[in-house]
Amino acid sequence: MDFALSEEQKIFRDQIRNFAESEITPLIDAAEENETTPLELFPKMGELGYLGITYPEKYGGAEADKVTECILIEELNKVCAGIAGAVSTTHSGLGTRALNEYGTEELKQKFLVPAIKGTKIAAFGLTEADAGSDAIAMKTRAVKNGSDYVINGSKMFISNGTFCDFLPVACYTTDPKEVKKRGEGISLIIMEKGSPGYSASKLKKSGNLSHETAQLFFEDVRVPQENLIGKEGEGLSQVLATLKAGRISYGARSTGLAQAAYDIIFRYAHERVQFGKPIAKFQVNTFKLVNMAINVDIMRTMTYRAAWLYDQGLDCMKEACMVKVWATETLQQLMLDAVALHGGYGYMKEYPIERIWRDAKMLNITEGTSEMNYLAVARALGI
Ligand SMILES: Cc1cc2nc3c(=O)[nH]c(=O)nc-3n(C[C@H](O)[C@H](O)[C@H](O)COP(=O)(O)OP(=O)(O)OC[C@H]3O[C@@H](n4cnc5c(N)ncnc54)[C@H](O)[C@@H]3O)c2cc1C
Repeated sequence: MDFALSEEQKIFRDQIRNFAESEITPLIDAAEENETTPLELFPKMGELGYLGITYPEKYGGAEADKVTECILIEELNKVCAGIAGAVSTTHSGLGTRALNEYGTEELKQKFLVPAIKGTKIAAFGLTEADAGSDAIAMKTRAVKNGSDYVINGSKMFISNGTFCDFLPVACYTTDPKEVKKRGEGISLIIMEKGSPGYSASKLKKSGNLSHETAQLFFEDVRVPQENLIGKEGEGLSQVLATLKAGRISYGARSTGLAQAAYDIIFRYAHERVQFGKPIAKFQVNTFKLVNMAINVDIMRTMTYRAAWLYDQGLDCMKEACMVKVWATETLQQLMLDAVALHGGYGYMKEYPIERIWRDAKMLNITEGTSEMNYLAVARALGI
């Protein structure tokens, strides 16, 4: 058993760490203040080969393994979860994974190649206002008309939805009344921004402010039938495959945020003096710091293990859901402790821990709430 990163992975980690610190850190304050995603990062990261790194070289990717992608995700999230979410989770993950796995060559040339270059930005449309955890209850419907699909419906909480150039939209291509088994009849179809009948409305939220979120509306949007990903009716399995990889990425996201919080609180607890000694030296606080260090270590180890299983092509839905629920839930207490150790300063906007705390909350909601991941683990365990 070998727990060490390869030399290439270590070099890559240092490169992406330097990039995040030098190119992303200076953008954070304005992006958070204005609640906008710094779009200039997409082509910049594309040029450096940091978008879609797991995708085939022939489309501009690096054919990197999932472990290497987790290194990238951890380093980006350590600096800013909002920006990391926009470029890695949504664009390089949710928005393009099904396209890479199941899309036709024409679709890949039209959407995947520019996405990896960062010249077209992706989002992913699954959730609806009345269909969240129960995504199958979606109402969005695509009906064939001539050589097009005509799509009607709406999508809720769509990350990158305000500015994306395209997104796979999950919708029923079969009349829901004709569907015999729950989950059948759903397809993923790529929709482009600017299509007549397509509109987006930006949502205000409490964290991840540099990762824009929107509600989308589709009124008789015409989309060429060639924009169907894979075969009609296979949308649900494509979504589940996308989420499996995404849930491992959430282990890496949690590790990045937890490591950032630990690094900050480690310094602060040694500098902040009360009752004549650094607060880190009070045993109750020492134990909190130790617990944080242990939890960061377990998060990273669990994430790499799930990523390794994924890379071997082994069944890892259980491990993906386990790491998603454990890492994102453990992160919540870790963040509360990190904020508490800052005393009143932890509640002040000028201290980065306040942003990390707000950002961390989103991680146990998106890509399946903790409850949905518990249920998936329970199913896998035969409970
Ligand atoms: C900032 C943000 C960004 C997002 N980005 C995207 C995106 O890019 N694309 C996209 O498609 N979606 C996106 N989402 C949607 C996200 O995936 C959903 O919010 C999530 O799946 C939960 O759905 P819901 O909000 O409707 O909650 P609900 O499903 O209404 O759940 C409410 C509560 O009930 C619980 N619950 C529901 N069913 C059960 C059950 N059977 N047993 C026990 N508990 C249950 C849930 O765990 C939760 O605690 C985003 C959400 C947010 C907040």
